[in-house]
Amino acid sequence: MIVQEPSKSTSGLTSVFENSAFMGHEQVVFCHDEETGLKAIIGVHSTVLGPALGGTRMWKYDNDAEALRDVLRLSRGMTYKASISGLNLGGGKAVIIGNSREDKTDEMMKKFGEFVNSLSGRYITAEDVGINTHDMEMVKMKTDHVTGIPESMGGSGDPSPVTAYGVFMGMKASAKYRWGNDDLAGKKVLVQGVGHVGETLVKHLTESGAKVMINDIHEDTLERIASTYGAQIVMDDIYDLDMDIYAPCALGATVNDETIGRLKAEVIAGAANNQLADEVRHGKMLREKNIVYAPDFLINAGGLINVYSEIAKYDRAEALRRTEDIYNTTLTILTDAETHGITTHAAALKLAEERVEKKRQQLKG
Ligand code: NAD
Repeated sequence: MIVQEPSKSTSGLTSVFENSAFMGHEQVVFCHDEETGLKAIIGVHSTVLGPALGGTRMWKYDNDAEALRDVLRLSRGMTYKASISGLNLGGGKAVIIGNSREDKTDEMMKKFGEFVNSLSGRYITAEDVGINTHDMEMVKMKTDHVTGIPESMGGSGDPSPVTAYGVFMGMKASAKYRWGNDDLAGKKVLVQGVGHVGETLVKHLTESGAKVMINDIHEDTLERIASTYGAQIVMDDIYDLDMDIYAPCALGATVNDETIGRLKAEVIAGAANNQLADEVRHGKMLREKNIVYAPDFLINAGGLINVYSEIAKYDRAEALRRTEDIYNTTLTILTDAETHGITTHAAALKLAEERVEKKRQQLKG
């Protein structure tokens, strides 16, 4: 399960096309079923590179505008994540409005599967916050356009370990860029959020000899991980700690006006989506502070690479090999940003957009 605070919107839902997050979406589908209580929105940002693949998130949004904004921001991010990873996939995402612990039923998930099926493969779904492999089994009963199903059903199972491996690769590349050496032995790393991805990242880091500090809202999880991997639990004022690398693996938007001034880390590399509260302004602030920021949508793409592999015939070794490429792509992006005097986020976005644009022109011609 993935935990991430969705973006807040204070404005009412006055327009879809004029929404600041709309940003060139091809299709937005509003799904409603009275009987099961399903209220969902599917955002298809782009199908230029291939079918739009992205998970379904279930969250108790305060209002419809917030749900719409969240799905639009996330589906656009998927376009760039797939593009920069060299996958023939477009970007899409879905949100179901409701409390996943109280409101979700198997019948609701099957109904959602019918809506996904109605898009005839333009959108392929997977798990995200509040959705688990059992829910995907329900969806699978109504559509074949679903990934991340259990290994027992021929799927690729939980993508998180592959995501963690990609983050580790991106972190090593960032270390190489900053310190001229990708050896993480002795480096002080704060992993914030030791859930599915964070735990495997802690494993890779401690095996590499890094000094790992961990933070989470669940004490039992912290204690288990501290004793399993020999990590140090930190609870208070975590942004002020003496650290070399900050790895956000819980919520988005933790790199913001308040935290950038406090952070002592020289590298930020983690799994969370949308780490920069404002991708332009905070990207620039990091650059001014000379903090190396490994763009989130680049280094957390391992899970997407893994489910992509499931579409044809799942091959874990191939998925891991492709995930390893995140190392080289990260180095390219960090160097590009320096050469062009732009933020690392902007450099990653530019590379991702160029591939989409090139394919768009080919399709026209
Ligand atoms: P998860 O829910 O398994 O783990 C998140 C952890 O963060 C939990 O242990 C939770 O207790 C902790 N947490 C929540 N709020 C916190 C807070 N305020 N401070 C500290 N810890 C807090 O989720 P995950 O699957 O490990 O994903 C982690 C992040 O990576 C999410 O932002 C997710 O969107 C992103 N991501 C995950 C994948 C994947 O394959 N799972 C892929 C790409 C991106």
